[in-house]
Amino acid sequence: MKTRRSAPRTPSTKSEGPVRARRSVKKPKSGAQNVKYPDIRRDLERQRAAILNDVGEVLAHRDDPAACPDVSDQASAEVDQNFSMRIRDRERKLLKKIDEALERMDATTYGTCERCGGDIPYKRLKARPVTTLCIECKTLQEQEEQARG
Ligand SMILES: [Zn+2]
Repeated sequence: MKTRRSAPRTPSTKSEGPVRARRSVKKPKSGAQNVKYPDIRRDLERQRAAILNDVGEVLAHRDDPAACPDVSDQASAEVDQNFSMRIRDRERKLLKKIDEALERMDATTYGTCERCGGDIPYKRLKARPVTTLCIECKTLQEQEEQARG
């Protein structure tokens, strides 16, 4: 019969190295931060659904060749197509921004200015939920873009 014996402990009395002063580390807030802007989140999700709906409609129209039997009509149809493609491009970009905004909400970085790190006022977020810049930084950015041409 084997009897289990715990390995003999060799108590280490060595405790070398400098004693570090313990600093209290500030933990990032969590939990409650996630629901900071529930109404804006709803706005974003609604806008997202509306765009997806619109894009779906535009695509459905494009897939209908019977809609333009004439050559002259075809020309205008091409213009329409360019137009709808431009809209789609814009919507795709907006959709991306909305997705990114929702991601930032999950990451709790939403509402923080990308540029100066300050808080973006709620009023601005409500008016432009996909923004990543506060008014001051947005103004600066626009000035820079204008200067670049
Ligand atoms: Zn800023």
